[in-house]
Amino acid sequence: MAHEPDASPTGDAESARDAASGGDIVLEARDVSKSYVLDEVVVNALQGVDLEVRRGEMLAIMGPSGSGKSTLMHIVGLLDHPTTGTVTIDGEDVSHMAPNALAAVRNKRIGFVFQSFNLLARTTAQTNVELPLVYAGVGGGERVRRAKEALERVGLGQRLQHMPNQLSGGQQQRVAIARALVTEPSIVLADEPTGNLDSQSGVEVMKILQDLNAQGITVVIVTHDARVARHAQRVVHIADGRVVLNELVEHRIMADAELDGANAELEMDAMTLSVNIAAPR
Ligand code: ADP
Ligand code: MG
Repeated sequence: MAHEPDASPTGDAESARDAASGGDIVLEARDVSKSYVLDEVVVNALQGVDLEVRRGEMLAIMGPSGSGKSTLMHIVGLLDHPTTGTVTIDGEDVSHMAPNALAAVRNKRIGFVFQSFNLLARTTAQTNVELPLVYAGVGGGERVRRAKEALERVGLGQRLQHMPNQLSGGQQQRVAIARALVTEPSIVLADEPTGNLDSQSGVEVMKILQDLNAQGITVVIVTHDARVARHAQRVVHIADGRVVLNELVEHRIMADAELDGANAELEMDAMTLSVNIAAPR
């Protein structure tokens, strides 16, 4: 990249432009359409979508429910095939790749985070995070070490042996992020990652995603929520299976500042409370 990554730590429009135009294209969809046939009814979920994701950027794909966001994410994440059009990853056309080769590319380069966490229920956080490494054939000792490290990275170093039902929603989503990270992907795709969370936990998850992005990981989040989208540097709006707008975020929301704000509010409440207690009527 031609620009200093830290030139604009506030994440304003300038840094968005840097990331959105400076990096090479890591993921690309060209004229992608996707049709589903269900009970002889054809649904055109995507219609001629072009999308470019630059290396190192944080991008949001935003649109109302049913607009085709998840379909698009599954296609650029190599979980599904387009009906027509091409997908390239790191400049390589993957449209005609054999399933095994495709799975290898996906497992190596892309980490997924879903709205509903998708953790195995009667399985510890540690083992959940180890699973992708089992599939990748990584041996026992290294697996344990790397899963632990990934959980520490999302602030769950003290919860390694907890089962999902012993963790809050926000913590479960952090386990899912650790699971996405453990294979050291260069891209993280997150589909409505805050959709099942209270607002505080949602901000904490956005902070982790912003931190990962600041560390160089390309992050794409799918959301119907304009506020969540404004945590990204750039927003691609989709409606009825088409891209309708591509905008740089002018006043990006930094989760760090939101968390500070929330803490300040709590302190205010505590102060008001103590003043009221100290000053009997
Ligand atoms: P979003 O994530 O924006 O809510 P989706 O990509 O899930 O939207 O869905 C886009 C459209 O495609 C919707 O009309 C949905 O009903 C339809 N759709 C998605 N997946 C399937 C499927 N497997 N079979 C049939 N229709 C589907
Ligand atoms: Mg969806």
